[in-house]
Amino acid sequence: MAPLVVPRDGVCLCIRGDCVDPHLAGSVVRSVRQADAIWSEHPWDIALITDAYDVVDVPAQYGALLNQLLKATCPTAMAPARRHWWFFVVGGSVPAAKVAAAGGVLRSGPGEWVPAPGTSTEATGRIRWLVHPHVTKWRPYQRRDPIDVVLPT
Ligand SMILES: [Zn+2]
Repeated sequence: MAPLVVPRDGVCLCIRGDCVDPHLAGSVVRSVRQADAIWSEHPWDIALITDAYDVVDVPAQYGALLNQLLKATCPTAMAPARRHWWFFVVGGSVPAAKVAAAGGVLRSGPGEWVPAPGTSTEATGRIRWLVHPHVTKWRPYQRRDPIDVVLPT
């Protein structure tokens, strides 16, 4: 995760001050001590960096059905304003072209991020978990079918 700053009412709390879009307010945080230091200085929002998983960001027409089929096996969030659904999956497990073909975007790698559920931005509305990651033991979704599970690789 990393500190995130979300401009509100035309004001951004960073040094520039006139930003329009949410952006990172610092580098990636990897320890509780670092987090304490950064968030005690300012109540930044939180960005989830896609370095340990990918986020499949798709419109509702695909998201709702996918959520129904995956049941509670995939951490899933929804951004209500754009009616986009986010699925947290194992890195590299879903091709970006497949997501793009559904009108979505694959967020992937250390340079990309999504605002953490609980964050509210103008573009997304208040993002919320539909399947909280504690339900999946904090693991991203691993694609597999019964053949992968049963037969040795
Ligand atoms: Zn700013």
